[in-house]
Amino acid sequence: MQTPLAIFDDRNLAAVVLIGARGSGKTTVGRVLADEIGIGFIDLDERALALRGEASVCDVFEHQGEYAWRQAEAAALAAALDEPPSVIATGGGVACIDPPRAVLRAAAAKGTIEIIWLRCDGQTLKSRLETDPGDRPSLTGQDPIEEAIEVAASRAQAYESVATHIIDATGPPTATATAIMEWIRR
Ligand code: ADP
Ligand code: MG
Repeated sequence: MQTPLAIFDDRNLAAVVLIGARGSGKTTVGRVLADEIGIGFIDLDERALALRGEASVCDVFEHQGEYAWRQAEAAALAAALDEPPSVIATGGGVACIDPPRAVLRAAAAKGTIEIIWLRCDGQTLKSRLETDPGDRPSLTGQDPIEEAIEVAASRAQAYESVATHIIDATGPPTATATAIMEWIRR
């Protein structure tokens, strides 16, 4: 069997980009997957945060506004796609909101990235976010967990339309990472 990195070379793959809702496991699964493949892992939330020079995503929203955050996500994604092949965990809005969505679509149009939607039902997202609320700013001002479920549902179509593949992400992170590996190796 070919090693995953050789497949990256054969198919001229620049990155595996994980998209999906808050709590779908993009960061957690991304780390596991990058480790298994033996390539770098990039968390776009961390990169975008560094570009904005704030301590948290909540601080960026509060001090600089949502658009400043979206611009930072777009810049961080463009830079990440220029790096050696890596697994890139996005933030939940990257695949749905411009300008980062436009950066993702332009890369997708070249056919050199896999975009994997980690699909998760609302109940699973709820239980994960209740355990770990994380640094996740409210987008509408309502209860953060209820909001996350609603936002996830409203973004499903956007995730589906940009994804090159959809993976059930309700199981353990290793199972999700293995399913992604199988897809990449196909
Ligand atoms: P995202 O990056 O998509 O917002 P995270 O990877 O940060 O999601 O996961 C959110 C929370 O859910 C974390 O506390 C993480 O440990 C937990 N989690 C992620 N994936 C799973 C999973 N497959 N099973 C159980 N808990 C998970
Ligand atoms: Mg994350």
